[in-house]
Amino acid sequence: AYQEQIAIQEPEVDAFLSLDLDAAHRRAMDQDDRRSRGETLGRLAGVPVALKDNLCTMEFPTTAASKILEGWTPPYNATVVDRILDQDGIVVGKTNLDEFAMGSSTENSAYKITKNPYDLERVPGGSSGGSAAAVASRMALVSLGSDTGGSIRQPASLTGVVGFKPTYGRVSRYGLLAFASSLDQIGPLTASVEDAALVAEAIMGHDPRDATSLQEVAPSLVASLAEGVRGIRVGILTNLVETATPQVQASVLRAAEVLTQSGASVAEISLDELAFGLAAYYVVAPAEASSNLARYDGVRYGLREAGSTVEEMMIATRTKGFGPEVKRRIMLGTYALSAGYYDAFYVTAQRVRTLVRTAFARAYADFDLLLCPTSPTTAFRIGERSSDPVEMYRSDVCTIPSNLSGDPAISIPAGVDADGLPIGVQLLGPALSEQLLFRGAYAVE
Ligand code: GLN
Repeated sequence: AYQEQIAIQEPEVDAFLSLDLDAAHRRAMDQDDRRSRGETLGRLAGVPVALKDNLCTMEFPTTAASKILEGWTPPYNATVVDRILDQDGIVVGKTNLDEFAMGSSTENSAYKITKNPYDLERVPGGSSGGSAAAVASRMALVSLGSDTGGSIRQPASLTGVVGFKPTYGRVSRYGLLAFASSLDQIGPLTASVEDAALVAEAIMGHDPRDATSLQEVAPSLVASLAEGVRGIRVGILTNLVETATPQVQASVLRAAEVLTQSGASVAEISLDELAFGLAAYYVVAPAEASSNLARYDGVRYGLREAGSTVEEMMIATRTKGFGPEVKRRIMLGTYALSAGYYDAFYVTAQRVRTLVRTAFARAYADFDLLLCPTSPTTAFRIGERSSDPVEMYRSDVCTIPSNLSGDPAISIPAGVDADGLPIGVQLLGPALSEQLLFRGAYAVE
């Protein structure tokens, strides 16, 4: 059924950078054999999975949607990929993204533009736009994305699927092509909260190969979904609600109403510091990216252009291999880290990051979970924001704070606007509160 769906949808949606349906079919047949021999299969047996193309896979090339990695196939799998395979998930292909996950619309891919399945003239969000569109159009049942400033949750919101960013350190990043290491997390995009819980359980947990991986035992999520939210205190983040269109605001209020009817107590709270997160993020993330992307030097992976000296070769390779947004980030980040500017930009941004953390700590003294929009608007038109980077950056104002604090967050579909475009609402919780966060999400759904 999924093969047929891919044949119909993919020519229009362009969610994938690589597909291997024959291999997927062979794996499914093999699972049927194992089952008929009486073997117990993993929890993702038979489930078609799509992977964002910044996750290393031995069986598919991994490009991060960049020309600089064209034709590179990693010699190892990311830990999350191995964990999906251990549970018998069937990887169908690798999905499109903004180059190196830098963007909010998937228009920054060097290869193709992914369309929103709800309206092919609109973006699916980003940077995990291919992963979101693949699930929204049912070309895969679940997918994995990465979230540095909202790249799982914002595309989930714009395509009507569930998107979950775990607590920093819950999921191993071993084998994720690093963008901004103090912010990056991997998580699922799925058609339901229950599916997100199932995939999250499969990928969470300690990994000695990621130095930031937490020792804490991963919580069980699926089993506690139905425990409900009676007595849970939920805060509506009014200053983030105010960034959104009236229709998005109405969806947040409806979600609050559902939580109230389910026995939660809901009140308003304004955390003005959160709005500064956007500016801090766009210093910290490019700074880290400028360091992480130094490894793409034409020597070790992918593309190499000719040059009569090493320096000429590197310059030619990077000039041709990196797209305009990636170059912009490398320059912004290098500038912010330069002698003379470091204190003014980088150190100031880190201080704002601390302000965001302390604002959350204040809120979590009074509330168990926080509620706000995922994205201020529904899906915008292809090309509408691509000439104005700052306008594009604003798409992330509601998602960035929890990357800066390292806390978990989930986007849940919450109806459609007058044009039939999906709206998402976001629940946030303190570090390691995944179990409660999923109970809240299940109640909202
Ligand atoms: N849109 C944000 C950016 O461009 C977030 C991207 C992400 O989470 N990977 O940096």
